[in-house]
Amino acid sequence: MPRVSIEKDRCKGCELCVEACPQHILEMSDKINAQGYFYARVFDRPRCIGCRLCAIICPDIAIEVGVNAVQYDYFPY
Ligand code: SF4
Ligand code: SF4
Repeated sequence: MPRVSIEKDRCKGCELCVEACPQHILEMSDKINAQGYFYARVFDRPRCIGCRLCAIICPDIAIEVGVNAVQYDYFPY
């Protein structure tokens, strides 16, 4: 199963990942992070298909997706 992890304190609440996810399994939390933003979270992890669109579109590099134990780094900085 793909592994999606969102580093909540990097998130600025832009919701781009929520819009991009073809499985519609991301949502905004009703809690705020250390920066004062409502952050994105995964609410239906087993339905993730590992497409990585969320990680690619996130401007704050807050999302990582691992598939079959391989970690893909699109932005290695
Ligand atoms: S990897 Fe794809 S399916 Fe999984 S949460 Fe990200 S956008 Fe959605
Ligand atoms: S795209 Fe990145 S910064 Fe925007 S809501 Fe999603 S995790 Fe947060």
